[in-house]
Parts: sequence; structure tokens; C-alpha cells
Amino acid sequence: MNSRDDSLEALPLRDDLRGLSPYGAPQLEVRVALNTNENTHPVPEPVVRAVTRRVTDTAASLNRYPDRDFTNLRTALASYLGHELTEDNLWAANGSNEILQQILQAFGGPERSVLSFVPTYSMYPLLALGTGTRFIAGERAADFSLSAESAARQVGEHAPNIVFLCSPNNPTGTALGLDVVEAVYEAGEDRNTIVVVDEAYAEFARFGTPSALTLLPGRPRLIVTRTMSKAFALAGARLGYFAADRSVADAIRLVRLPYHLSSVTQATALAALEHHETLLGTVEDIKLQRDRIVDELKRLGLTPAESDSNFVFFECGGDAHAMWQGLLDQGVLVRDVGIPGHLRVTAGTEAETTAFLEAVESYLARS
Ligand SMILES: *Cc1c(COP(=O)(O)O)cnc(C)c1O
Repeated sequence: MNSRDDSLEALPLRDDLRGLSPYGAPQLEVRVALNTNENTHPVPEPVVRAVTRRVTDTAASLNRYPDRDFTNLRTALASYLGHELTEDNLWAANGSNEILQQILQAFGGPERSVLSFVPTYSMYPLLALGTGTRFIAGERAADFSLSAESAARQVGEHAPNIVFLCSPNNPTGTALGLDVVEAVYEAGEDRNTIVVVDEAYAEFARFGTPSALTLLPGRPRLIVTRTMSKAFALAGARLGYFAADRSVADAIRLVRLPYHLSSVTQATALAALEHHETLLGTVEDIKLQRDRIVDELKRLGLTPAESDSNFVFFECGGDAHAMWQGLLDQGVLVRDVGIPGHLRVTAGTEAETTAFLEAVESYLARS
């Protein structure tokens, strides 16, 4: 055994996993980390105290398994979302990535397929792979937009078992019109296709952008997923959830691991929801910084996409990797999403955003 690769090679790994690399946004020590779309504001002090109190209260009973159905949490999530949802419509897991995995476990798997429209969230193909579901890369227009007509046509063409719609889309940042969701849902009628709208960034959407939650009544195959990792500034807590017809949650109960949501996670999420107004207090500031990035990048002669999220996708007018490195050399880490000529940057605090913009300006001046 002369290297880690050789030892991995020697293991009886599944053929479809051989030679692959794990998901890996670099976790580098840098001055300004704007590469994974976290909320870069620390958790506010009152929320820290509330989480601490609730977690302390649960500590003595950690000898017991948690509430398997996390009923209090589902009730709190339903009340946060509104739209006349009840706890029966809600489900939660360790991050919305686990939510998506559970959806694939219940509705995908061998001989089944999931369609999404690339470029989109890079975890979709990996989650499909892990669950043995065939991933179909649907197309977008040259400007990365997706029309209702094109999406519905592709659903008809591929007849997938599941469709993932990311809105606002990562990495491009723009939200989909609800007409796209409606058209995809209708196009999936024959095949009984499950339609998932991943709204990880919904809280950052521009004013007047409607949520797919409004489409849930009467659509039992529609699932809207959300997360506490972005606007809620709780990426470390690992809490994602969905709203759907109650039968969908019943289906997921067949594949979830027993007691998958720890008592500590449930306590943390409950404290966060109790203080959601404080936690979401940074959202308006982040949206200001995002709009500032869009305006400033335009002024510098680059081409940013309009954003409904806490990040900006932009055409950098040259070699994206060289610019990524040029920014990193100045202590600013952004994301090279592998799309030629484009980079993605998270809107941080005002100071982080300033550091990013100054780094871009100085890079452009030198190149
Ligand atoms: C960040 C992100 C998520 C959130 O993942 P968690 O597992 O909840 O941290 C989900 N979908 C998209 C598109 C994302 O960018």
C-alpha cells in the first residue's frame, strides 16, 4: 500500500463510485471566506443564549432517544411558514441535503431517474449517484434562464420520476417564475412525477417574488424544501425541512433512519424559530450588500446576473480560474463553479463585501 488512492482502489467499492472525488468546497483559512453562501454574520447574542438554554435543558435526558417525530419542531416550522400549513405537512432532517437524499430514497433509486436543469446545485447529481438514481441533466437557455415551455417539454421528453427545480437557482442566483413550477407539475401528470422546489435561498428573494408554497394546495406531488443554513445563519446546526402534502411525509418515514434528528438539533432549531425575527434581522443587510456587488461589478465592466439569493454569479470577462487565484492571493475566497468565464461570490458583511470589491478592482487593474 503506497498511497491512500491505492488502498481505496483495493477496497470492494461500488463500480459506480470508483475514481470519483467527494463534494469539496475548499475549507481554507482565509481573511474573507465568501465561497459557500453561508450567512457570514455570527449568530446574535440573544439567540446564542436561547440555544444554550434549550440545549442545557435537554442535556440530562440525552440518555433517551429523541422524539422520533419531532412534533414540536414540525409545529413550529408550520407556524413559521404560514400558508395554512400544519405539522402534518412538515418534515425535517439534518440539512436540506438529507431531505433531498430521503426524497431520492423514497421516490428514486435503481431504474428511476431525476431531472434537473444545469447549471444548478452541484449536489443533485451526487445525491442521485449515492441513491442509485439516474441523473438527467436538462438544459437552460444560453443566459441560464428556464422558461415554462422549455422545462415542460424536457419533462415530457425524459419522463423522469423526480424533477429538482432550484429557485432561486444556485449558482446563477435567479428565482424561477411560478409558471415554470406549474408547467413542470402538469407535464409530470402522466408519469406521476414528484416535483421538488429547492428554496434554500427563498428569504433573500427580491420583493414580490412568490414562493412555491403558494402552489401546494391541490398538488400532492409537489414538495418545497427550505433550510436554516442560509438566511437563518445556522449552517452548523444542520437543519433542513420541507412542506408538502401529508402523504409525502408518510412516504419519507419509510426511509428515514430511526431518531435521525438528535435532541440537540431539535432544541437548537426550536430556539432558532422562537427568535426567527432576530435571526432574519441580517437578511435586509445582506440583500443590500448583494445589490451593491451587482452595481459595483457592473461599474467595473463585469456582467453580474440579477440575484434573488445571498450570492452573485458574474461573468468575469476572462480566465475565471486566474481571477479566483488573484482574489485568493489577496485573502478573498470566492467560488469557481466550473463554468468557463464565471465566478460566484457570497454577499458577506459590509466589510467583507468591501474587501471583495477592492480585491476585484485591484486584480482588474493588474491584469
Ligand atoms: C446551501 C444549499 C442547500 C442547503 O443545504 P443544507 O444541507 O441545508 O445545509 C440546499 N440547496 C441549495 C441549492 C443550496 O445552495
